[in-house]
Amino acid sequence: MKALLIIDVQNDFCPGGALPVPEGDQVVPVINGILDRFDLVVATRDWHPEQTVHFEKWPVHCVRNTPGAAFHPDLDISKVDKIVSKGTGNKDDGYSAFETEELDLAAWLREQGVDEVYVCGLATEYCVKASALDAVRHGFRTFVITDAVRGIDVHPGDIDRAMEEMKKAGVEMVKS
Ligand SMILES: [Zn+2]
Repeated sequence: MKALLIIDVQNDFCPGGALPVPEGDQVVPVINGILDRFDLVVATRDWHPEQTVHFEKWPVHCVRNTPGAAFHPDLDISKVDKIVSKGTGNKDDGYSAFETEELDLAAWLREQGVDEVYVCGLATEYCVKASALDAVRHGFRTFVITDAVRGIDVHPGDIDRAMEEMKKAGVEMVKS
């Protein structure tokens, strides 16, 4: 059974937001176009408190219940089965969808019968990478949908290095 994991397609990560990923909004139509192919759709959201050590590294973004933390308005969340909030604590970054306080995502996915996890969203070398690596570690066959992710490339080459790291860990690369 296949699950789609949509990572952090939120206003603050799209152009015009507080921590924009270049072309971040361009993943939205791609993701909307593939939703029907999955048995289960999970969307994560960065959902930070107002103060967190995470903001020592990054501009303030995705503070819970603010417009910047809302999903991109064009993302079709009517087909999302579960929304997972991450980064909710104030002591760590919370990059991975599998690091949430509210549920054990790996156990929950297994309970639903999921054995394949497809990861898309933002940003490639942070939350997408962390989530894909955790999915592999938890024993799921894991794919990254390469045309449905975008990265920041703070240091040029970061995205390429992240792709290599994921491949080495056993993540498979596919196109939508
Ligand atoms: Zn964050």
